[in-house]
Amino acid sequence: MKINALTLDLQADGWSSSRGFIKRTVPRPILDETVQASDATAVIIKVQYAGVCGSDRGIWNRVAFSEMVQQSLEHEQKSLRILGHEFVGAVIQAGSMVQHLYGITVGNTVSGDSHVTCGRCYQCRLGEAEVCQDQAILGISTDGIFAQYVKIPAKNLWPVDLTRVRPEVCAVYDPFGNAVHALTKVDVRGARVAIFGCGQIGLFAILLARHFGAAKVIGVDTNAANLAMAKTLGAHEVIHLQPTEKMHDYDADAVVLKQIQSLTHGKGVDVSLEMAGFNSSVNNCLAATRFGGHIILFGIKDGDFTIPGFSRMIVKGLTIHNIIGRQIFYTWQIAQRVMSDKSNGIQDSIWEIILKQGNGTIITLSDFAPDIMEQKMAEHPKLLFDMQP
Ligand SMILES: [Zn+2]
Ligand SMILES: [Zn+2]
Repeated sequence: MKINALTLDLQADGWSSSRGFIKRTVPRPILDETVQASDATAVIIKVQYAGVCGSDRGIWNRVAFSEMVQQSLEHEQKSLRILGHEFVGAVIQAGSMVQHLYGITVGNTVSGDSHVTCGRCYQCRLGEAEVCQDQAILGISTDGIFAQYVKIPAKNLWPVDLTRVRPEVCAVYDPFGNAVHALTKVDVRGARVAIFGCGQIGLFAILLARHFGAAKVIGVDTNAANLAMAKTLGAHEVIHLQPTEKMHDYDADAVVLKQIQSLTHGKGVDVSLEMAGFNSSVNNCLAATRFGGHIILFGIKDGDFTIPGFSRMIVKGLTIHNIIGRQIFYTWQIAQRVMSDKSNGIQDSIWEIILKQGNGTIITLSDFAPDIMEQKMAEHPKLLFDMQP
């Protein structure tokens, strides 16, 4: 049986000779423990909603994850990757060990972590699975969830209660978890926090920085619509980053730094979050953060970055944190508590402001077309696919 999926085929499409996601029919996945023993701990999910991540945009434009996609496909000796990693859906079939090991049964509604970790390596055994040495990422280094039906290891699943968190919001637990991971890495109580990059995860970070007690939250972006949204979500100040004459592309933006100095009475921010993935944005963080402050790096782009005046980083006594994925499942537990407490307004803000109550932000898989997708990606920070037309 064939199903619809959004894919990239390195042989048929090529990495640099193509663009976007390519809709194809693929075989519907099956569980058969006699053929594959690991199916005993896997499930088949009927995907309801799938989120379009910043990393999916990076793949769409072929500017991120090229090595991971290519090397993993070489390793699997195939050329087609099913993309996507943020989801909510129903378990329709479960391997024989799934209930015993994970308490998950057919009929459960689930979201889940996109990092398939090994459970065996040093880091996994220490409880640091986010830096597992033998992990695959759904939709990047193993087949993902932009398909009507998918097979996923049950250990990745996070059962959800749709009476507490609506399904469209459950579909964004994974990227929301990135923001939770970032904002639980340092103490932001009473802090001045600058968020460089107000795309989807930057916007989640604004909600969380306010919720966790930051005294001043500053959003920085090149996109005026994203900044307006940042303001509505609770940013105290926003800075519109405009292109200026610079010696190098990677140089920090002097105008932005001046504004941050003035908003922090000459001190610089206590915490900077880099959520754009540009070299200049990293240098903005390094320059905008006060002596002794913290920098959280999250945005990813392929290639080398340049840091002029490297020693300043040491002289200023900056602490750099790198955020990859989520702490499984510690981050998920916090995310669930924050989302399901209606009194903090976060779930409603995600649905009403970021997802615009579904107005224009939800694309039915049968309506998928590259030009519509490009237009919507330019218009909205967060998009969902409805996978079951
Ligand atoms: Zn993601
Ligand atoms: Zn591991």
